[in-house]
Amino acid sequence: MPDNTCVRCGAVTPPHDVVSVASADGAFRLLCSRCFNVEMAHRAKIHTFEHPEFTPVRLADADGVVHEFHFRSLLFGDQLSLEAFELVSGNEDCAGFRFQLLGDPRSDPFELLGDLVQKVKRALAVRHLVEHAGKLDVAGTMVRGRIEWDGNDNGRMPCVVIDGRRVDWTDFGAMLMAFEGWQFRVELVDPSDEA
Ligand SMILES: [Zn+2]
Repeated sequence: MPDNTCVRCGAVTPPHDVVSVASADGAFRLLCSRCFNVEMAHRAKIHTFEHPEFTPVRLADADGVVHEFHFRSLLFGDQLSLEAFELVSGNEDCAGFRFQLLGDPRSDPFELLGDLVQKVKRALAVRHLVEHAGKLDVAGTMVRGRIEWDGNDNGRMPCVVIDGRRVDWTDFGAMLMAFEGWQFRVELVDPSDEA
């Protein structure tokens, strides 16, 4: 069990809420997001900044399945990053929805939260995969998702997360064979830009 104790305040913090920060001497320190933001606000001289804590929200997808989103806010100098993500035990990166928005740290963080929740709702309303007899297929002619590492140490291969579900690279390839002979277009989009 990894020790997720914040070295600044001593709080034992869930793994999704710790930040590993490099010091000048090259050593890494674990900080909780609140302490990270306090230090960053001090360095960026944003004295009015207050670390926002948002309680999880539950939102239903197009099939009526409810997803619980947790939030993390991190101050990166002149930008405040707000992330919404699902907690999937043992598989934090490779499954579950995840969204991000960047905003002005001097503006009301609840406004940024409102915008992020709207973005999550827009994404949940669209399904890119359909299940036919236990097999997943591409629903239309456009797929959106997230690229993650498949977790296999024998090489750097991706898996993709579509509709919040992990799809292995070979399974994704098999899905695309329904379109054999078609052309395709890949556009890579920064997480904070995705509409
Ligand atoms: Zn702390």
